[in-house]
Amino acid sequence: MEQLLDRILEDALNNARKMIELGKTATYIPELGRVNKEYLGVCICTGDGRYHVSGDSDVRFTIQSISKVIALAAALERCGFEKTFDRVGMEPSGDSFDSLVRLDLSSDYPSNPMINSGAIAIASHLSCEVSFERMLAFTKKLCMDDEITLNEKVYHSEMGHISRNKAIAYLLESKGILESSVEDSLDLYVRMCSLNVTARSLSGFGLVLASDGINPLTGERLLHSKVVQTVKSIMLTCGMYDGSGRFAVEVGVPSKSGVGGGILSVVDKRMGIGIFGPALDTKGNSIAGQHVLRELSSKMRLHMFADHVPEY
Ligand code: GLN
Repeated sequence: MEQLLDRILEDALNNARKMIELGKTATYIPELGRVNKEYLGVCICTGDGRYHVSGDSDVRFTIQSISKVIALAAALERCGFEKTFDRVGMEPSGDSFDSLVRLDLSSDYPSNPMINSGAIAIASHLSCEVSFERMLAFTKKLCMDDEITLNEKVYHSEMGHISRNKAIAYLLESKGILESSVEDSLDLYVRMCSLNVTARSLSGFGLVLASDGINPLTGERLLHSKVVQTVKSIMLTCGMYDGSGRFAVEVGVPSKSGVGGGILSVVDKRMGIGIFGPALDTKGNSIAGQHVLRELSSKMRLHMFADHVPEY
């Protein structure tokens, strides 16, 4: 069974390589534009804590929007459900991740915490409550990876090209949604986006979410059940931005992408999956990474509504 899983991973990766040429790295953050777009890696962490890898699964890259899952979990743990969702919704926006149109025209608060406006609102709550160092320590625990650090180059590169997120933050401030200054909110938001992870770290985080918030290796509970349930629901409906609906139909696994090329996927009660593939589609999701997940979902029957679930 172990070997079969390794072969499925290898094949999925090789079949997805052809997609790379159709994607582009995220050049709007210049440092991300310098990453080699040929990288492709996948890691699965199964319930017994064993890692199965293929390709560039130990190359460090920035977590980007996948940190929105960690920030949401931290906000729910610290501030509770009511306060967290007081100023950010839980509906898919159908717009691109950095849009501010809906926020300005038809809503008083961001659609959900997985798009930039929602995550900046969450970061503004968090920055009153918790330091970046505490958030980094929390991230290391959730990912079961002590080597996670801030990527200073990417942090400064994004801070130097922050106009759009600044516009979003000022719009949030004008609507009375920010709890700390525009500068403090953006600083925590961008620091969290600039954490260096690997496909392996994301698979570890995925396994914690698949295991109801418990680190299965130590038995330590890291998140409350209700928090995990909420986070996974929002990942399913909003985690792939305006590609979330199609992804849910085709893959059927709660996931979250980032413009660094990462995808975090949670196969409930079974495994966590981490992907790294920095060539992105037009919506900002890893183009080859999604191909890998489509193949894994169909070959391993990972879809949450699959009728028959095999052993691995
Ligand atoms: N740091 C990025 C930004 O704010 C994150 C976006 C993403 O990963 N989709 O634009």
